[in-house]
Formats: sequence, C-alpha cells, structure tokens
Amino acid sequence: MANFYTDNPDLRHHLNHPLMEKIVELKERNYSDAAKYDYAPMDFADAMDSYDKVLEIVGDICGGTIADNAEGVDHDGPKVENGRVIYAPGTQENLDLCRKAGLMGMAMPRRLGGLNFPITPYIMAADIVSRADTGFENLWGLQDCAETIYEFADEDQKQRYIPRVCQGETMSMDLTEPDAGSDLQSVMLKATQKPDGSWVLNGVKRFITNGDSNIHLVLARSEEGTRDGRGLSMFIYDKRNGGVDVRRIENKMGIKGSPTCELTYKNAPAELVGSRRMGLIKYVMALMNGARLGIAAQSVGVSERAYR
Ligand SMILES: Cc1cc2nc3c(=O)[nH]c(=O)nc-3n(C[C@H](O)[C@H](O)[C@H](O)COP(=O)(O)OP(=O)(O)OC[C@H]3O[C@@H](n4cnc5c(N)ncnc54)[C@H](O)[C@@H]3O)c2cc1C
Repeated sequence: MANFYTDNPDLRHHLNHPLMEKIVELKERNYSDAAKYDYAPMDFADAMDSYDKVLEIVGDICGGTIADNAEGVDHDGPKVENGRVIYAPGTQENLDLCRKAGLMGMAMPRRLGGLNFPITPYIMAADIVSRADTGFENLWGLQDCAETIYEFADEDQKQRYIPRVCQGETMSMDLTEPDAGSDLQSVMLKATQKPDGSWVLNGVKRFITNGDSNIHLVLARSEEGTRDGRGLSMFIYDKRNGGVDVRRIENKMGIKGSPTCELTYKNAPAELVGSRRMGLIKYVMALMNGARLGIAAQSVGVSERAYR
C-alpha cells in the first residue's frame, strides 16, 4: 500500500529548511510543554521526530483508505435531507479515520487537545490529504478555523469549542452571500442583540463549504444602518443550538465530496467573537491568511496526483 508521505521525498524539503529550528522553538515556547505532557517534545530533534511519525500516519491513511475512497465519493456525493447534509459514505469513513488517528485540530495547543503542530508540517499534511482526495481536503482543512477562535475568542470560548474540534467536530466559515462574494463589505446577514445581551442571526449564506458543520464562524452585520466592513462582526454558531438549515448543495464540476451549501439562518443563536466591528477588517483577514495556505497546499496536492 502506498504511503503518500514516505513516497514523496520532495515533502521533506520543507522539514529540512534552515528556518525550521526557529519556527519549532517559537511554537514549542522553548519546549516548556515537556514538563506537563509526556508526549510533548523535549528538544528540536524530538519535535522533528514526532512530526515525521505523525506525517507517516497521514501518508498511510491517505495512500490507503482516503485515496481508495476518492472515486466513490465523487460518484456518490453528499445529499441534503430535512435541512441536514449527509456525506457520501466514503467521506464519512475518511472523517472517522482522521478522528481516530487524532488528525483534527492538529495545530491547536496541547492544553486544548491538539498536537501543537507548527504551520509547516500541518500544511504538508494538507498537501498529502489533497493528493488523496482534493474534495476531502476542503472538509478536513476547515479545522484551520479553530486558529481564529484560538487567536481572537475569549478563554471561555476557547475552552468550550477548541477541544471539540480536536475531538473531530467539523467547522465552516460562513462569509459569502448571494450578493456578497469578492466584496465581503456587502454582507447583510443580520446579527441582532437581544435585551439579555445574547445574539441571534437572520439571513442567507451561499457557497459555504461544509455548511452543515458542527461549529460555524459567521460574518454578520451587527451595526444597524451601516453598509461597509466596519459594521460587521464575527460570531460562532453552534449547530447543537439549531436555527440554521441547509437549503441546497451546489452541483459542481469537481470536488463533489465537499458539500458547498446554501444556508438559511432563522433566529439562530450565536456568540460574538472578540470586539464588534472587527469581524471583517481583523478576524476574517486573519482567517483568510490561514485559508490561503490551505488552498495552496490543496493545489500542490492535486497537482502531485495529476503529475503521477
Ligand atoms: C467550491 C466553492 C467553495 C466555497 N467555499 C466557501 C466557504 O467555505 N465560505 C465562504 O464564505 N465562501 C465560499 N465560497 C465563495 C467564494 O469565496 C466566492 O465565490 C468568491 O468570494 C467570489 O464571489 P462570487 O462567487 O460572488 O463572485 P463575484 O464576486 O460576483 O465575482 C464574479 C466575477 O467578477 C470579478 N470581480 C469581482 N469583483 C471585481 C472587481 N472589483 N473588479 C474586477 N473584477 C471583479 C471576479 O473576479 C469574478 O470573475 C466558495 C466558492 C466555491 C466556488
């Protein structure tokens, strides 16, 4: 059986980069976790060894089950029943496998259940996943949204949401609307604050990858009367609370396993992340910077597959 990490020596080039030592030192905060967790690295060599081992597992799963499932997933595709997405059977099997192997929330800190992977080996994993099933990389790669929660949410929100992502719950980023694509300043999904201080969301989002995810990051207009980016804030919507339904899935040319959803929000309860008005100009910008790397890795992975 192929291993998509060990059969590709080019990938190791990234791990051997002279800057890695500095990157790992920063991410590991001088290896201070070693005193708290027996699986945390003690030094640079130890850290590199652990990335190598985890990437070998990624390569094994991808070269086996995920690559084997890819064609079936593309034929079956996901479907919508009663406002909920049902993944293609192969997609569900891929997700379960990644959960069991601990490959969700990989870049999150250990104290919240992650592997504390620096971006370099995490993006290498994304490249490998994409080579196996480029559509599945869309779903798996949305674990990246946890980074935005980690960076901008308060400690209580981090404690409540990030461990769930590390245990395998999926995420989505709900930005685009029928009249707001490239120009996100036009987003109109309405966030209303109730007298008790809590928020509800009303409106429509379109083209949302994995739109029936467990935990959504949502860009919404919180400041009534505004029309530009300065009236937008970022919210977390938890599917367990209800209020968001999937109206339909786009019929795409490719990456069919990845459901691209139209969503309706009807008084969906949500939590504000960080400060009001910073949704687009600060938080979505940071989110997009992470997403860019993921999409770049996705492109390299699918090119690798095509080349071979
Ligand atoms: C498979 C898929 C998955 C997606 N997943 C997500 C997701 O998970 N979350 C999410 O929020 N969104 C998602 N999107 C939406 C995606 O971000 C938008 O499609 C994108 O932002 C473009 O918006 P639009 O489709 O409305 O096109 P438009 O913005 O209407 O653009 C149409 C055309 O006009 C051009 N154009 C636009 N503005 C200008 C300008 N000012 N000057 C010159 N040319 C211009 C564009 O280049 C394009 O060619 C997804 C889209 C696809 C296809």
